[in-house]
Amino acid sequence: MNKQDIASIKELLSTKKKIVIIPHKNPDGDAIGSTLGLYHYLIRGNHKVHVLAPNDYPSFLKWIPGNDTILKYDSQSKICDALINDADIIFTLDFNAFHRTGNMESVLTESKGLKIMIDHHQAPDDYATYMFSDVTMSSTCEMIYHFIDMLGDSQTIDSDIATCLYVGIMTDTGSFRFRSTTSKTHTIVAKLIEKGANNNEIHNNVYDTNSYERLQLLGCALTNLRVIPESRAAYITLSQDELQKYNYKKGDTEGVVNYGLSLDGIVLAAIFIEDKNEGIIKISLRSKGNFSVNEMSRAHFDGGGHTNAAGGKSHLSLEKTVEKFISILPTYNNALNNE
Ligand code: 5GP
Ligand code: MN
Repeated sequence: MNKQDIASIKELLSTKKKIVIIPHKNPDGDAIGSTLGLYHYLIRGNHKVHVLAPNDYPSFLKWIPGNDTILKYDSQSKICDALINDADIIFTLDFNAFHRTGNMESVLTESKGLKIMIDHHQAPDDYATYMFSDVTMSSTCEMIYHFIDMLGDSQTIDSDIATCLYVGIMTDTGSFRFRSTTSKTHTIVAKLIEKGANNNEIHNNVYDTNSYERLQLLGCALTNLRVIPESRAAYITLSQDELQKYNYKKGDTEGVVNYGLSLDGIVLAAIFIEDKNEGIIKISLRSKGNFSVNEMSRAHFDGGGHTNAAGGKSHLSLEKTVEKFISILPTYNNALNNE
């Protein structure tokens, strides 16, 4: 985003606008944190603003300031359609292709409002008038901080905005440990704490509110963990029956894939989760070093994401999906063993 773009957006926001802000389907901490952080900023600028999420999200995100204002497309599509069609400006955050919003794809494709994309995923589509797309960024929340700063308004960041942005930086960096975490990230996090983000409370709210059943489900996932040493890979499966047995709730499997990567010497980890409702196996892939799970997912699992974290899906059975994963691994053995 160049100076001219920023000047144009500043001009655009100098008068009251009808604005909608959209995160991706199955929103995570960065998607909810960035949309609500931007929401608080724009509301204070006196605009009419709505965050429209494609669907529900985990309960460990439901304490974030502004949470109660979020509309969900899957249960409130009429009002969401009206707001999208009426919007002067449509911000799309933490994704870069309309299909990532699920059922909102067609209304967004046909919408007339001016689009502003703020996102850190690879290979963005070309739908936005203004694009702030940077794959080196730790998180969309970090980008929202930069966005507000570029608009010359960092002094307007209050404890609500700071709290929202802290959540997404924390969750997308695995609590400040992934490669995407830079000294700049830490500088911004320090500023957010100064502005009122209570870091200790935020960590507790997100990570220490597990149900007993969620930990039992984690135990099941770890029991199912398999290692393929020659490919330096590990994978976990969770069947629909196993999810039901532990009373699965949205978000319960978040982060489980990372346990594979915590094994000594493992550089590729996968989790395969059966979703009979959607008729798919949801896949999460994680890697260390330069091995790109984004490319692996694009090539084989109808997905994408970042170099070290990507998602995808399969329409095969759970068993067949795992077989496919195991069968493609040898083609990556060189790359995996050179990490
Ligand atoms: P997760 O494995 O946590 O669902 O996703 C990891 C990363 O990949 C996230 O940044 C997420 O937005 C992205 N991602 C997940 N699923 C998909 C997908 O189906 N397509 C694309 N392009 N990105 C995905
Ligand atoms: Mn993100």
